[in-house]
Amino acid sequence: MALFSKKDKYIRINPNRASREKPQAKPEVPDELFSKCPGCKHTIYQKDLGNDSVCPNCGYNFRISAHERLNLTVDENSFEEMFTGIETKDPLNFPNYQEKLVLTREKTGLDEAVLTGTASIKGHKTALGIMDSNFIMASMGTVVGEKITRLFEYATEHKLPVVLFTASGGARMQEGIMSLMQMAKVSAAVQRHSAAGLFYLTVLTDPTTGGVTASFAMEGDIILAETQALVGFAGRRVIESTVREKLPDDFQKAEFLMEHGFVDAIVKRADMRDTLATLLAFHGGQA
Ligand SMILES: [Zn+2]
Repeated sequence: MALFSKKDKYIRINPNRASREKPQAKPEVPDELFSKCPGCKHTIYQKDLGNDSVCPNCGYNFRISAHERLNLTVDENSFEEMFTGIETKDPLNFPNYQEKLVLTREKTGLDEAVLTGTASIKGHKTALGIMDSNFIMASMGTVVGEKITRLFEYATEHKLPVVLFTASGGARMQEGIMSLMQMAKVSAAVQRHSAAGLFYLTVLTDPTTGGVTASFAMEGDIILAETQALVGFAGRRVIESTVREKLPDDFQKAEFLMEHGFVDAIVKRADMRDTLATLLAFHGGQA
């Protein structure tokens, strides 16, 4: 049928000629060169983030690894890691859980989602825990609970304060109810530490959610938070569909929590080390 056939008034492109010209190479941008800021959605040149990984535009504190945070916080060479090598059990034989643990350990250089030990911060000795969201979203499994419990028990025995940087997606579903039991276990250890008159300080970092928020993250004598950190129990959509109300934009942000009395202060990452040192000095940290 001639209805759709081409009439010859169009320019013809010689296919042989077109193929001789090299297709233009796409510009390559390495992944690590730019980051999108979760706070203001701007694309930020990696170098502009500086050592402490803070957005120059809105002040959002990017998620950093436990080791990076350790370097920003404690006195050089003062950290002594403790409670390593506790084996993570797989009580439910959860598909691919063991493989995931092996890969995550390789990727993060951590044995579990929290780094624990003792360190000094501007000369003040403290027990220290740092959770790392790169490790299965810092979910709270049995080993996370056990390491933090032992940290508190050690601090109680040696009369040390505890500084804990929290981050978590919640309980570790791969360990079922065993992970939920960690909330009570850690809380009991926090209580014994508190009864001994010792100081416990938490720093809520982005994101601190689920069972961690519902237990030890909110049990600090003083609760600090990083700028714009997401802190909450259930997810926003779950709450919205339950209460059938639209929630404010800044709901579950550190600033919103501070306004409503859940957080004592929001501290810029650049000021965190000084602030911790001052608070440890006030509350009897050994100098
Ligand atoms: Zn930003």
